[in-house]
Amino acid sequence: MSPRTPFTTRFAPSPTGLLHKGHAFSALKAFEAARQAGGRFLLRIEDIDITRCKPEFVDAIYEDLHWLGLEWEEPVRRQSEHFPDYHAALNQLAERGHIYRCFKTRKEIMEDIARAPHHPGEGPDGVIYPGPAKPMSPDDEASRLDRGDAFAWRLSISAVKAELGDISRLSFVEEGEGPGGESGTLAIQPDLIGDVILGRKDVGTSYHLAVTLDDSLQGITHVIRGQDLFFATSVHRILQALLNLPAPLYRHHKLLTGKDGKRFAKRNKSQTLQAIRQSGVSAKTLRMQLGFNW
Ligand code: GLU
Repeated sequence: MSPRTPFTTRFAPSPTGLLHKGHAFSALKAFEAARQAGGRFLLRIEDIDITRCKPEFVDAIYEDLHWLGLEWEEPVRRQSEHFPDYHAALNQLAERGHIYRCFKTRKEIMEDIARAPHHPGEGPDGVIYPGPAKPMSPDDEASRLDRGDAFAWRLSISAVKAELGDISRLSFVEEGEGPGGESGTLAIQPDLIGDVILGRKDVGTSYHLAVTLDDSLQGITHVIRGQDLFFATSVHRILQALLNLPAPLYRHHKLLTGKDGKRFAKRNKSQTLQAIRQSGVSAKTLRMQLGFNW
């Protein structure tokens, strides 16, 4: 990235529910970092999951963030309007043999995992899938495609290793901290990855692919987000290496918790920004509560 690239960061919510205090904290963190750096603050609507995302939640995002006192550049990128970009990246990965079609059911995946020589553990997407014992034959694949069976596009970690060599040499710069206090230049954790899903027959992308491509397309220099996505950064860093994209700097922040010590969740209605606003709390009071003194 050129040294003259302006500091650019983003807040990237998914409209699958109303924003809560945890989102407000994350959005304010990014907004304030951009302001302090004299840089750019972007909003991105991550609505690739067309079954769970709802237009009313998109409207609520705009309303809540305006109320909170944030301003962002227009136009806002809505991922659902850019499926061709994600398809192009998937095609590129497919042509180079970095992804494969996986027709397995959840049960078959769990059986493969049980047969793996060591228990693969948990990664950013739950239990890690080490891949099939042997690849599907081209004939089987063709007949399942003919039948119109559903499939997922999975990253082939073995193909990635064959192309990139020792992937644990890939690193990213953490300017915030991971959940274990990790900071500085951090090697990715290849063991946490496995054959993650990068797209599906019906939804032609995944969070990992869309977020990585968009951060690059939008010239994001600093990814500021919650520590829940810290481990996903290893997947994003591999995709950047495969697709030849620049690596932004990362600032993961602690997740806010409620009085019960639990993370805020979209289903916890009383902590939504809408409920807080409707109860008469001012945006300034909320900002102060969250540690932003303006
Ligand atoms: N859309 C993701 C979420 O709502 C955040 C993406 C990111 O900041 O990388 O959890």
